[in-house]
Formats: sequence, structure tokens, C-alpha cells
Amino acid sequence: MDSYKIDLQENKKSKDGSILGKVNDFQSQLKEHENQRLNILKKSPLSSACDRIIRLRDRFNNNAEIKALMFGSNSYLGIITKTNTVNKAIEVTKKFGIGAGGVPLLSGTNIFQNELESTIADLKGFDDAIIFSSGFTANIGAIIGLVRSNNLIIHDKLNHASLIDGSLMSGAKMLRYQHNDPASLDKILQENYKLYPNGILVVTDGVFSMDGDIVNLPAIINIVNKYNAVLLIDDAHSTGVIGDRGRGSLSHYNISQRDNIVVTGTLSKAIGTVGGFITANQKIIDYLRIFARSNMYSTALPPSVCASSTEVINYMKTSDVVYKLKKNSEYMKNRLSSLGYNTLNSETAIIPIIIKDEYKLTQISKYFFDKGIVTNYIYPPVVSPNKSRIRISMMATHTKEDMDYFITILEEVDSLFGIK
Ligand code: PMP
Repeated sequence: MDSYKIDLQENKKSKDGSILGKVNDFQSQLKEHENQRLNILKKSPLSSACDRIIRLRDRFNNNAEIKALMFGSNSYLGIITKTNTVNKAIEVTKKFGIGAGGVPLLSGTNIFQNELESTIADLKGFDDAIIFSSGFTANIGAIIGLVRSNNLIIHDKLNHASLIDGSLMSGAKMLRYQHNDPASLDKILQENYKLYPNGILVVTDGVFSMDGDIVNLPAIINIVNKYNAVLLIDDAHSTGVIGDRGRGSLSHYNISQRDNIVVTGTLSKAIGTVGGFITANQKIIDYLRIFARSNMYSTALPPSVCASSTEVINYMKTSDVVYKLKKNSEYMKNRLSSLGYNTLNSETAIIPIIIKDEYKLTQISKYFFDKGIVTNYIYPPVVSPNKSRIRISMMATHTKEDMDYFITILEEVDSLFGIK
């Protein structure tokens, strides 16, 4: 077995404390990565759309074009190349050009942005929405817009990095509860709520981005209500995936409460375009249009992106595409579990396969690549050290043959590396 593993911790700090020391040291890790002909820290680029079947240029083989099966894309609905969404983008680009021309409060607000905002608000059952240039900036905007340094923010331990970064920027004190554990949240609130009379924000992913499990929303909301807190749900991996026709985590549980809840999300995953959103009641949205700095000070999305995103959401609401994704995810998850792989508590399109040994994971990544499968390999500190994994992402367009082929190769991997 080769003695190389990806180490994302190693070069986080400089050995000599200097600014560029860590930058220079990273070169030796990268050199080893390249010697090993890996595609983890650097990628062979796609030379086709990011669909179920892709082509890419093998950077270790004179950029020769190879075909591969995609099991690592966020395009869960497989909708990136769907004809009417592409045509919509072309039609709007021809009329409105390639960019929005300004931040939303100067010249960047156009009819397609407004239409997308009301489409998202309607999808999620809120009054209104704000569009951002990414899900990352939407999360930052929601938190720095709402929270000040005299507030407390309590996070699920597995929340996305953008939620953590927004919290750091807000200057508020931050605490974390055990993953998806209402009792742990309750305990932290019990201990702290009197210390923060100005308010507490509880933050959770709707679907957790690395484990693929769904937040226990009914229990979390009960606790949030008990302490008069505000709840922020990041529906990045829930939108288009769970709930009635992809409406997300509140719909998944048929929850009608909206008052002290703010939902964020991204257009870059199931929706297949780019951009992010916050949706909430009218007063919150009116306020955040001004005080979410990553909206106020950042250029609006191109009109074509807004228009094609709306097209995708309308298709989602009127077709069985979300159902197909669910069926594929269930088939894959059930087959993996019955064969004895550890897939944690995944119930969605994200399915982890725990490998633990990071050296093995590196070798496995090469094996899959050689067999024409693209998927993702996740190392610490993105996940905890004994939880390194293959993270597969299902698509509505995967066929049974695709999934069975993946399993065949995984079984070969298991017989070679022993991963069960
Ligand atoms: N939230 C979660 C849970 C995510 O997984 C991601 C994307 N990795 C984001 C937010 C950020 O979304 P975007 O890629 O649109 O910036």
C-alpha cells in the first residue's frame, strides 16, 4: 500500500509562523499529489457538461479525452442540459445580455430576479426572498444581517463552513451542539438563554452536506420555540431533493410555522445553475435587503441565470423528477447497506461510504478513476479523522445500470482494499 494521504491540516499554519511559509510548504504536498497522479487537490477538467455521463481531459495522459460516469455532482436533478432551461438562458441572454450591471439596490434588479424571488418564496411557503451570487454569500448575509455581537449563535456540529464563517464575521459568541441531537441543543440553550437576553440564533443544515441525513426539525423547532430563539435552516441540499416536489425540509415534515424561521439555500445544486437565496417573512426580507452586506454590496446574478433557475423550479413542481431522484437514492442506499457498507444515516441524494483509512481512500480514488467513475473523496478536517469517506451524489438521471456498475466497482475495491 502506498504511504500517501491527503492532509488538509498540515499546511494550514506555517511552521515558522510567517504568512508565506505555509504557502511554500504546501508545494511539497502538491508535488507528492501530482507524483501519485491524483485528482483530489487538482482536477482533470471536464470537456463536456456536468451530466450523468461526462467527458474529461486526463491531465496525466496528454489531456486525452476520456468518458466517465458522474457520481460526484451536486446537479441532483440532472437538469443542467435540459433543453427548455438552456433555451430560456439563451433567449434571455440575447435580450438582456451577459450580466446584471450592478448591485441589486443600484441597477442590478430586473424582472427575472423578481420573478425568481417570488418563485422561491412560493416554493418554500414564505412571503419573499432575496437572491445572492452564491449559497455561501447568502448564508453569510443572513447571519451578519441578523446577528450582532450581543447575541449567541448555536450550531449543529456538522453545519456547513459558510454558516460558521458568517458567524465569525458577526462577532457573536458561537457554541455547537451534538450533531442532530435536540437534547444537546436543549442543554446548551438551558445553560445560556439567560445570559443572552438580546436573542439567540439556532442554525442547522436541512440535509447535512457530508452525511446526507435530514435534520430532526420537529424536535429542533420545539426547542427553538421554548427559548424564544430564531432558527436558520440551510436548505442547500434539501431544495429539489426532499419535501413535496423538492420544497425542502419544512415541507418534508409538513411544518407550517414560519414566524421565527429563516431559510437559506443555493441554486447551484439540484437547481443546476448558480446563486443563493434567503427566504423569510416580509419584514425580515425587507431588512436583509439592506443589512445583508453580501447582497447590498455584491453584483446581482445575470438575468439569464435567474430566468433559467425559475424555469427549473417550475419544472420541478410539475414533473416527477424529484421522485426519480428519491427512488434512485433509495435503491443505491439499500444496495449499499445490504452489502454491508457503512453509509451512516443517509436518507437523501448524498450517500457517504465510510473508509476510515485515509491512505486506502487515496488509492481507491485512483481505482475509481481508472474504472471511469468520478465521485468525491472527503478527508479531515472536512470530516472527523475516523470518518474519511467516499461521498457519492445521486442524480435523477442515473440508470439502474449506472448504479449497478458503481456497486460492481465498489465490490472490487472492497476485495482489494477491505473497506467493509
Ligand atoms: N450550504 C451548504 C450546506 C453547502 O453544501 C454549500 C455548497 N458546498 C453551500 C451552502 C454553498 O453554496 P454555493 O456553492 O452556492 O456557494
